Amino acid sequence: QRRAAVTAISGPGATSDGHAVPLLANIGGVGDVAAAVAAGAEGVGLFRTEFLFLDDHRQAPSVAVQEEAYRQVLEAFPGSRVVVRALDAGADKPLDFLTPAEEPNPALGVRGLRTLLEHPDVLAGQLEALARAANGLSAQLEVMAPMVADRADAAAFAAACRAAGLTAKVGAMVEIPSAALRASALLREVDFLSLGTNDLAQYTFAADRQTGSLARLQDPWQPALLDLVHAAAQAAQLADKSCGVCGEAAADPLLACVLTGLGVTSLSMSSTAIARVRATLAQHTLGECQAAARAALATDTPQDARQAARNALGVA
Ligand code: PEP
Ligand code: MG
Repeated sequence: QRRAAVTAISGPGATSDGHAVPLLANIGGVGDVAAAVAAGAEGVGLFRTEFLFLDDHRQAPSVAVQEEAYRQVLEAFPGSRVVVRALDAGADKPLDFLTPAEEPNPALGVRGLRTLLEHPDVLAGQLEALARAANGLSAQLEVMAPMVADRADAAAFAAACRAAGLTAKVGAMVEIPSAALRASALLREVDFLSLGTNDLAQYTFAADRQTGSLARLQDPWQPALLDLVHAAAQAAQLADKSCGVCGEAAADPLLACVLTGLGVTSLSMSSTAIARVRATLAQHTLGECQAAARAALATDTPQDARQAARNALGVA
């Protein structure tokens, strides 16, 4: 009992019966590193590199500038995973020199990996900077692409990483329903998956993530979203590869238990959420999390999914 209580406030993420669920931090740059380390993050699950590109609206930062920024982050996590997301420009994160000015539907247009494949020089520069930054450091660099839609996208990204001489693991974000439905095809090209539940909800429900009045459809407890998480996690389990969550869903302690029960292998969130997720996970066995996941999947509304998980986990 006492050991469980101690585990709950510090140490690696795990269920009460010892099933490890690494708890990682979402960061936007080196300025977020101290909070991540203080929270006991076991690494970085999502390094949003967009912020590096915001200083100059005409061009990408040089390879040298990027290399320095990436090295500072990698140095803070010796021996740990650091998952860097390739530039995710467009839609809610427009960049003047990359994002088409006139698009009728920017969220459905050229964004994320699509932008990078239209600007291979920008992608190559970023990957080169990452390869250089990781050189000689013990952090386990992993690189992932945003907005992967299909196997061809995953293959193109993996090829760009190989061409840049990266030895890091290469991953695909699952943010589009097609990627979740055919996750096994993506995994023929890449080493891991990371579910971006913010965009996955947006594209599953055709509900803009920036439109507050549509919040009901952005609820990560929506059973349709849980179905897609389940599909991707199962495909990864079959392929013996990892499948994390790095969207806001991972920061909800109860939902973190359900995601674990669905087969998700790591959870990445803002550092402020780590302590509560760690404490809640440590109170439940993997079997209980799986029962909560099954109960949530059997419902038709986010409210019922939440309540079913609460009942299965025995929480008020
Ligand atoms: C997501 O879409 O869930 C995600 C993690 O990426 P971002 O919020 O940066 O789009
Ligand atoms: Mg996203």
